[in-house]
Amino acid sequence: MKLTFKYPVYPTKTQETTLFEWLDHLCELQNAARHDRKVAWETEGERVSCNDQQKKLKVAREKYADFRQVPQDMQICTLERTDKAFDGFYRRCEKGAAKKGYPRHRKRIKSVTWKLRKYTKVVRKKTQDAEQQTLRVRQNPIRATAWKHDRLKVPKLGEIKIYMHRPLEGDPKAVTLVKKASGWYAHITCELPDTPKVGPTDAIAVDVGTTHYLTTSEGEKEENPRWYRQAEGLLHKHNQTLARRKKGSKRWYKAVDATALHHERTANKRKDFIGKLVYKLFHHCEKNVLIAEDLSVSNMVQNKHLSKSISDASWGIFFTWCADIAERDGLHFHQVDPKNTSQTCAACGKKSPKKLSLAIRTFDCSFCGMSLDRDHNAAINILLRAACAHRGERWVANLDETRNKNEARDTGLETPEQLFFSDLFTSPSL
Ligand SMILES: [Zn+2]
Repeated sequence: MKLTFKYPVYPTKTQETTLFEWLDHLCELQNAARHDRKVAWETEGERVSCNDQQKKLKVAREKYADFRQVPQDMQICTLERTDKAFDGFYRRCEKGAAKKGYPRHRKRIKSVTWKLRKYTKVVRKKTQDAEQQTLRVRQNPIRATAWKHDRLKVPKLGEIKIYMHRPLEGDPKAVTLVKKASGWYAHITCELPDTPKVGPTDAIAVDVGTTHYLTTSEGEKEENPRWYRQAEGLLHKHNQTLARRKKGSKRWYKAVDATALHHERTANKRKDFIGKLVYKLFHHCEKNVLIAEDLSVSNMVQNKHLSKSISDASWGIFFTWCADIAERDGLHFHQVDPKNTSQTCAACGKKSPKKLSLAIRTFDCSFCGMSLDRDHNAAINILLRAACAHRGERWVANLDETRNKNEARDTGLETPEQLFFSDLFTSPSL
């Protein structure tokens, strides 16, 4: 398992200038590598490997002085990044996809990455034989100090102040320096042993929406903070200032920075909320199985009436973080097919004959007469669907088909209800 720890770093003016020079150089290198591959692909139909490009880099480093001024590890990481982008491109070409997605020419890049090298460490044991033991250790990028700021070792640059607000865990493998509107940050990737999965005992399902951020299968709702709508007023002001200033002037650049900072703060608010929410679902509710829908967010964003609300809600980040936290803490996260979850009755399993529009907030079943909040009903359906999948059954659009008596007899259970709420999943209260 890999974890990335983020810390703010404070380079001096001279260090910052050097870093900006490196960023420019690496951007040029990345574009050159891209051009090289593009020409080879379009004229010969050939693929250039990362190894070939690294050989060319070696020659360039011997020839030109400006190549030698930038650390080699950073240049190699840039080439590897291009290689990764082209891997995806070649794969899409093979598949014959309509959109091949050519890797783009970049105007600027905002981060440098380097991998930490391993070196041989000699350990002397304090025994009579004076036995020597050699270990392959990765270098630690952090030098601890007695002051508030520790030091981050950067190749060819020296040490940069870093604020270690939490300790590093595991074995550090790579460091990335990122320039954001609010300053510089170091992302340190560490390798940790995998957390063993706990046995699933309690499950909870969530239905995400735009009116409320989410509704759980126990009927609890979470308000939607609508960060973008909050930020819109001030954003308009920033854009106005930007439009009134002369493009390319000092004051214009200042306005650009202010706008970027505003966007970054909105994004931070969103991430803060989602992080706390995921933690709450798993740890405060004491559940170890979380179930959600497998929504295709990119398709939903194309709905012109809802696109802003859906983008603002960042369901993509929410689902990714649910999966990540589950992996980190040894819990379970599953996604189920979202088809008809809000159109089916959770009590009798019959599909509503008329399609429920988004404006109708309660689900009234015309067959059994059950009346329940729309999102709560959907959340229970998601839980039931996961229970189906857990027993290895395929979900059928109409619940009736999986709930018939014959199937119940086959599994040795007496009533259809028992079939659904067998040992793993606790019965939701209706
Ligand atoms: Zn019903």
